[in-house]
Amino acid sequence: MLSLLLTLCLAAQPETCGEHALPAAPCPEGAEAAAAAWLSDRPALTLDGWRCGAAPPLEVGEIAPGVFVHPGPVAEASPENGGDQANVGFIIGGEAVAVIDSGGSRAMGEALLAAIRARTELPVRWLILTHMHPDHLLGTDPFTEIGARLVVHARLPEALRNRAEGYAESWERQIGPRAWLATRVPVAGVTSAQTVQPGAPLSLDLGNRVLRVEAMPTAHTDNDLVVTDTGSGTLWLSDLAFLRHTPVVDGSVLGWLAVLDALSARPGARMVPGHGPVSEPWPEGLAPTRAYLTALVEETRAALRAGESMTDATRHLGSALAADWALFPAYNPRNATAVYKELEWE
Ligand SMILES: [Zn+2]
Repeated sequence: MLSLLLTLCLAAQPETCGEHALPAAPCPEGAEAAAAAWLSDRPALTLDGWRCGAAPPLEVGEIAPGVFVHPGPVAEASPENGGDQANVGFIIGGEAVAVIDSGGSRAMGEALLAAIRARTELPVRWLILTHMHPDHLLGTDPFTEIGARLVVHARLPEALRNRAEGYAESWERQIGPRAWLATRVPVAGVTSAQTVQPGAPLSLDLGNRVLRVEAMPTAHTDNDLVVTDTGSGTLWLSDLAFLRHTPVVDGSVLGWLAVLDALSARPGARMVPGHGPVSEPWPEGLAPTRAYLTALVEETRAALRAGESMTDATRHLGSALAADWALFPAYNPRNATAVYKELEWE
């Protein structure tokens, strides 16, 4: 599968250049016109040349027949990893492909699409975005460019709109201008997405393979989706489950624990967490996330009973768990503050 490979440079810093795939373009016929059309609404970029070739595929593993997951490194976003953090992947049915999360930069979305094209030419009909966090959705553009329909929680468009500017600034700073090149927060794309309401699951038929997409009540964020591949018994939990990488509370800790309780009663063979090993036994793989959230709740309630201020309490809340988790100093203090604020008035 050949793509149109563009060498793009930042208009403001012409020395910052990188190569990007334009997968929807006919190649080589019409390449010049396709490149010009694509660039016309991207004033920050200039073209320094183009050629046709294969974009490098993202590394993925097959955890069940037709279910492929890329293992995101357990690390903070940096110029070295280019925003490659989250576990993302795709499911191939008899007639179509569904992608679940697109990664932390345009380049990562392109590489994920190349990994799909290395395995099948079936149309990529859906891109399911499990929630609003940048490491899960900044690679969306290459999929909308080939006509994939976005599927999101009903609350995601507004949540993303409110945070888009902050996400773009902080993410560009973290991964650097080269890795950020041509990346956009998909605010416009999600306005025309298929939305899923809590209590009203959506079925996606990939051809002899049905995915159930469910919108959760507020948990990790207020816009989490769970995708179940009913045939293989795979529950794609994304950031409702963390392994190794310290969990991130950006919704409701009590809501999250309730969601995990409800989900864990379901049948299933395996789960895909948002960070850490790509496939864990179901429901045992939920245990570390649950243990962390439960400990934070118990310790926070004890601190509140003892009359500790938020400043004093957040210095030690969760600290007994530090050895169990990577990136603890980066995430635990923020979680402790969020949990204190949530439980303060109960
Ligand atoms: Zn997340």
